[in-house]
Amino acid sequence: MTDQPTDHLDRRDFFKGLGVASAATLLLSAVGGTLAGDVFQTPTSGNVHNRPWWIRNVDKPSLGIDWEVIERFNAHTGLVLGEQGMRYVGDEDEINRLESKASALEIDRIQRNVPGYRLQDQALYSAFRMARNALPLSFLGLQQTPTPEQLNVPRWEGTPEDAAQMVKAALRHMGAATVGIVELDERTRKLIYSIDIDGKPIEFEDVPLGYETDDRRVIPYGHRWAIVYTVQMSEETLKRASTVTGAQTTMLAYYRGISIQLIAQEFLRGLGYQALGQPAINALGIAPALAVMAGLGELSRLNRVVTPEYGPMVRIFFLITNLPMAPDSPIDAGIARFCRTCMKCAEACPSSALSFAKEPTWQPAGPWNNPGHETWFENSPRCRRYWLESAGTNCGICFAVCPFSKKNRSFMHDFMKMHIATVPAVDGVVRSFDDAFGYGIQKDPETWWTSDLPPYGIEP
Ligand code: SF4
Ligand code: SF4
Repeated sequence: MTDQPTDHLDRRDFFKGLGVASAATLLLSAVGGTLAGDVFQTPTSGNVHNRPWWIRNVDKPSLGIDWEVIERFNAHTGLVLGEQGMRYVGDEDEINRLESKASALEIDRIQRNVPGYRLQDQALYSAFRMARNALPLSFLGLQQTPTPEQLNVPRWEGTPEDAAQMVKAALRHMGAATVGIVELDERTRKLIYSIDIDGKPIEFEDVPLGYETDDRRVIPYGHRWAIVYTVQMSEETLKRASTVTGAQTTMLAYYRGISIQLIAQEFLRGLGYQALGQPAINALGIAPALAVMAGLGELSRLNRVVTPEYGPMVRIFFLITNLPMAPDSPIDAGIARFCRTCMKCAEACPSSALSFAKEPTWQPAGPWNNPGHETWFENSPRCRRYWLESAGTNCGICFAVCPFSKKNRSFMHDFMKMHIATVPAVDGVVRSFDDAFGYGIQKDPETWWTSDLPPYGIEP
């Protein structure tokens, strides 16, 4: 925890705010959802899937992007997650020391039977991890499904709108939570890495089909559509972060996301098109930035995407294809604006890696960030050091405490999200509500095994 000041409401302001919230509610009830949609700009529905009216489509993301400044990112040396990027955490000796410490900690916790780190927790985590690693993830996919050419029939043809609808329906059926489309042009192509996380250059060429050699990956300029999708993580499970029990929901989401990629690549092939996938987790491009452009969520204080439906409780993946599809647009659901008041993730972060600044900035925190956009830049080396020194996992406390990390279908939660999107004056009250209801408090990992969770630990 940190000792940074926040500007939360005191008790008097809380109840005063309740009055504002009530008045706003009465107003909204009186004018009705449809009229309110007109008042607060165009209602959106069906863009990604059916969404409440207060999620508005906008021309530009809620936090700025300067397309003149932004450059394709070298993920091989820049990502703190990668081997090269670990130099930001410390020199070689220090990394070896941290990794030895993490291994010793893992064994010690199993031997001491620490809840959340017991043998059964480790076994479940490792099982998902091994299964994930065993999936044949690749840029080109399995290439096994018969193509229309092999079947001697013409490839699938339709309008871009029909194609987008079909692809979204198929990916949702495969297990994606939300799906959006981004058109790759001279600007959005900058969201594809220049060097992939494994050190291979990624190049665009005027060729009909993408290909891969020992020393590069090639994306045709004609492959102009990115299919961006999210996979939901279990809120109940991540409420046990930063334990191993909490972390296994990340592994499960990766496993499911990779499975979707494999199936989607084959599906597109069967239609007569090519889908180029991420050759590894977090590879090929900046998935969160593509998700913002696809309208799946907004950039937040986490410097990660927060979705209106599931908050940050998602993992994000994408494919690039030559099937023409109607693109989606960014959204404004009041999320980035709410982050200015909330700060709950920054308060909860045990390594003080997240920003407490009220306003976002254009100034990166270090070379691990890509300049050219406005956000709350994080201190990734601090975060990563905490993973190794203390958590022994990829932590995730900041995701778990976010007020948007609530199950989607609850009336109360939708009601709050509607207020966030439409009545900025009550942002502080909503944050206080979240505290008052005890949300954001991590749960006992011991209780996870008996909590009778739905499949995958998620609710639709
Ligand atoms: S994952 Fe990193 S940024 Fe998030 S709470 Fe943990 S240490 Fe902080
Ligand atoms: S916890 Fe609050 S400040 Fe952090 S991402 Fe969520 S809404 Fe934004």
